[in-house]
Amino acid sequence: MLRVGVNGYGTIGKRVADALAAQPDMEVAGVAKRTPNFEATAAHRAGYAVHAVSDAAPFAEADVPVAGDLDDLVEASDVVVDCTPAGVGARNRELYEAHDTPALYQGGEDADATDASFNARANYEEIARGDAEHVRVVSCNTTGLSRVLTPLEEAYGVEKTRVTLVRRGGDPGQSDRGPINDILPDPVTVPSHHGPDVNTVLPDVDIDTLGVTVPATLMHLHSVNVTLGSEVDADAVRETLADESRVFMVPEHARVAGPGHLKELAKDAGRPRGDLWENCVWEESVAVEGRDLYFFQAIHQESDVVPENVDAIRALVGDADAAESVVRTNRALGVGRFDSPTNHVATTGGAAASADD
Ligand code: NAD
Repeated sequence: MLRVGVNGYGTIGKRVADALAAQPDMEVAGVAKRTPNFEATAAHRAGYAVHAVSDAAPFAEADVPVAGDLDDLVEASDVVVDCTPAGVGARNRELYEAHDTPALYQGGEDADATDASFNARANYEEIARGDAEHVRVVSCNTTGLSRVLTPLEEAYGVEKTRVTLVRRGGDPGQSDRGPINDILPDPVTVPSHHGPDVNTVLPDVDIDTLGVTVPATLMHLHSVNVTLGSEVDADAVRETLADESRVFMVPEHARVAGPGHLKELAKDAGRPRGDLWENCVWEESVAVEGRDLYFFQAIHQESDVVPENVDAIRALVGDADAAESVVRTNRALGVGRFDSPTNHVATTGGAAASADD
């Protein structure tokens, strides 16, 4: 049983902790929290041993028992998943190294702050075979792009990729983010950082990306154009993408207009926190002109990296190969399943209720 500590219990950390707790080969050694807010209370109620990153006294005032400090948590862990805000993880590396504890970091960290970057579909075996001990799970957008570019490269070859990323302004809990009423080229320079980030796990893919930020919180939306190495019809591409366990081909009959409907679909399916761990590719958006492939996909920024973190732990310190790990993670979480009693979109192909109904 791998004992995993989670440092930082916010949007990503709480989801990672729950995902680890669901795995048959892992247990949560504890979580580290800096502030005794509602999330600290929730962590305690969920049964996680809460460790105070700084002063423990305010936790007592908030009725959250403290199991120890961050040093105690790192010492008790076989591996730590750092889910602190961007830039904090890099500063924590020294502490993990002092305990000789391997660690995962999130996409907000610079690639060169860690030994390697990870995406389960792109480079699991490379990380598992290598000697990297401090590994960054790439960002939500990069995860979403890596999951589709890898199978496309394998099946047809990828000559050139161009993606416009329509980015949510902030997560639902980020009341301090914007824009409130604008549409921002973000960054205004082209290409955006997303393409180079894809190259940290897929070094040979030729990719240019543009970023736009909009007043939305639910998901990101990617407009993808890939020039393939060979001519292929759209149905073949649909099949290639549908074979991917972390790609959800949104069926035309579901009448999903956008992320708002996708989130409803996830909640109707009983998904925890309405999470969508999969890339959501609109089936009818897949189009091919000559060797140029086009499609739209939505990426749930709060959760698509969660199964990747679980796999990255096995690549780092476990003994499963990529295929075994992905199956184990998917099964434990319910990735690819939308079959609660109230939703039959993916499993039966039956008529899903339109949001207009
Ligand atoms: P968050 O702000 O929701 O959560 C971070 C948590 O860490 C908070 O609970 C905060 O109180 C705590 N914290 C702050 N300073 C700390 C410290 N010094 N030590 C321990 N904990 C501390 O942030 P998040 O959205 O979960 O992002 C975490 C990382 O995941 C970032 O690198 C981010 O770029 C990356 N990421 C975020 C998203 C997303 O859309 N939210 C998606 C993919 C990757």
